[in-house]
Amino acid sequence: MNEVDVLIVGGGIAGASLGAEIAASRSVLLVEAESVCGFHSTGRSAAFWLESYGGPIVAQLSAASRAFLDRPPRDFSESGFLRTRGDLHLIRDELPELPPSVETRIVERAELEKLVPGIKPEWPRALFEPGCADIDVAALHAAYLRRFRQLGGEVRTDSALVSATRQGSGWRATLRDGSGTDAQVIVDAAGAWADPVATTCCVQPLDIRPKRRTMVQLRVGRSGLRSLPLVDDAAGTFYFKGEGDRTIWLSPHDEIDSEPCDAAPEEIDVATAIDRFQTVVDWPIEAVERKWAGLRSFALDRIPVYGFDPDAPGFFWFAGQGGFGIQTAPAAAKLATALLLRCEPDPMVADIDPAPFSPARFRLSG
Ligand SMILES: Cc1cc2nc3c(=O)[nH]c(=O)nc-3n(C[C@H](O)[C@H](O)[C@H](O)COP(=O)(O)OP(=O)(O)OC[C@H]3O[C@@H](n4cnc5c(N)ncnc54)[C@H](O)[C@@H]3O)c2cc1C
Repeated sequence: MNEVDVLIVGGGIAGASLGAEIAASRSVLLVEAESVCGFHSTGRSAAFWLESYGGPIVAQLSAASRAFLDRPPRDFSESGFLRTRGDLHLIRDELPELPPSVETRIVERAELEKLVPGIKPEWPRALFEPGCADIDVAALHAAYLRRFRQLGGEVRTDSALVSATRQGSGWRATLRDGSGTDAQVIVDAAGAWADPVATTCCVQPLDIRPKRRTMVQLRVGRSGLRSLPLVDDAAGTFYFKGEGDRTIWLSPHDEIDSEPCDAAPEEIDVATAIDRFQTVVDWPIEAVERKWAGLRSFALDRIPVYGFDPDAPGFFWFAGQGGFGIQTAPAAAKLATALLLRCEPDPMVADIDPAPFSPARFRLSG
């Protein structure tokens, strides 16, 4: 029987980043159900960092993560993971309410026309958020997995956790191939499967709900789009960003309840995305080059859940990363490390109160 201090369930950005933070001081096994890590939400994101996204509590994590993403330590990555492009929140009526820490300025119609040539007249102005950046998600995820392995962490793919029972002060876990592992702590970093994994461990689920989001890659009859700002509707009905010279990534900002699964795009959501896009710019659509969907999983208050379950000793939640799990990953992993190892937090997150993230908020005993 294999024995480790910590068993992490899930090899997306959540499991990989937390594994990389704790592997120096604990023996850690990370198990991933799929044949590659990052197959689900982490490999399907829109790949941007947007400080205003997710409300003020999440914004603290995004802001704290920015410097690491932009200029990571040399021994973690030779190059940064961000490319700044800015975001235009298009406004029809009232200004959106953004966290006060976020830098913005109003862009009136004349400037808007320069930034988004061909924008339709019904969009009179926008709020510009200059800090918005693309994240190289694949490189970030790979760097976390590399660091994890360098520090002695073990990754096992094709290895779903199928059951776990209490064993002394820890756990006896069984994987799909029948092999077993004893662990002091189980970390639930299973994304859309966070609740099912809890159930597998006889831990009461938290009602973390997966919601499908659709992305479409369009080729359009307009060039020079690669550095276009991210463009979104402040009312939250679409966003798009330049991808190649004549291609964009577009989303209808959908949020459709789903079972945990290998999410696929529905034709109606692709059609809705295109319909909304055509109300924004006059660019002819030449082709739908690619479409995909992924699951964004939220706790009921839409704040992620980090911490030991108050009713299940040794069960640690690292779930509910919603639509911001990439941009918050560095700070989230540091904060979770302090909670998991019961140690002083890294300076990156020293000013962030962990209380709002606690699973105890959903437990009567909490
Ligand atoms: C369309 C879309 C756009 C997005 N855009 C952005 C963005 O621009 N910026 C941003 O920051 N975030 C964005 N997100 C959100 C971000 O992708 C997620 O928050 C993040 O990837 C969640 O990471 P995770 O590791 O929790 O989940 P996942 O990447 O889904 O990883 C969980 C893993 O757990 C594994 N697993 C499940 N059950 C078991 C089991 N029993 N045993 C072993 N393994 C198991 C799964 O196979 C999976 O690989 C977007 C998401 C989507 C879908």
